[in-house]
Amino acid sequence: MTPILDVSDLTCQFAGVTAVDDLSFTVDRGQIKAVIGPNGAGKSTLFNMIAGVTRPTTGTISFDGSRIDALPTFRRARLGIARTFQNLQVFQEMTVLENVMVGAHTTGRAGTMSAIFATLRQQAEERDLTETAHALLTRFGLADKAQLKAGALSFGQMKVLELARALASDPSLLLLDEPAAGLPHGEADRMGEIIVDLNRNGMTVLLVEHNMRMVMSLSHDILVLNNGRRIAEGDADTVRQHPEVLAAYLGESEDA
Ligand code: ADP
Ligand code: MG
Repeated sequence: MTPILDVSDLTCQFAGVTAVDDLSFTVDRGQIKAVIGPNGAGKSTLFNMIAGVTRPTTGTISFDGSRIDALPTFRRARLGIARTFQNLQVFQEMTVLENVMVGAHTTGRAGTMSAIFATLRQQAEERDLTETAHALLTRFGLADKAQLKAGALSFGQMKVLELARALASDPSLLLLDEPAAGLPHGEADRMGEIIVDLNRNGMTVLLVEHNMRMVMSLSHDILVLNNGRRIAEGDADTVRQHPEVLAAYLGESEDA
């Protein structure tokens, strides 16, 4: 079976820095795959290349068997790739509901229709989007907050809101950059439960996370990066005992 994501010989150089260095790996449909590694390992750069924010210097990225590495971000989103950000990106002045609907707009098709027909079509889509957004908020326990400004939410609720927004585009691959970062234990565990639940319902997840308890408990497969290169790959037990992984994490006690 074709992997949903196929990264091949991927390199990203910034002035003088090789952030990702000749990296190859695949993600199978239905997997939760984690990417871990010390700060500066290249995890966010990898996500940015998959989402289309950063162009690879060399190498290829295929999604569902087709090259996507030259496509703009919105085309990749339409193909089914959604993401959340390491640094929370919530529109504080918009309502909670509107924040989710922003994510859903990538699936809208109205732009291709003639002007008058498009307006009718847009109105229908708008209703659909509102329903989808409400359903997501209900699912994540935020329905009663729908009309509040997003800035009024707690940090943990904003992290969940960002996830709801990513899901609003009905993706088949979800890229999560540190979904538990900054969350207290209980909320981090809840985030883990949400991810597991999404995956049980068919979502493929690529997860960057420093919370090792979360990574080890929910990942089917773990890729360990250091200095942009793969140093280990496998299940939790394999990775945990790998000498290079232990060495890479020495001195990063907060992550151990
Ligand atoms: P991680 O997410 O694993 O902490 P990053 O992908 O953010 O790592 O960074 C990998 C390396 O690339 C680091 O050395 C970082 O300083 C560098 N880097 C990341 N983004 C840029 C950029 N836009 N310009 C220059 N260097 C960058
Ligand atoms: Mg990062």
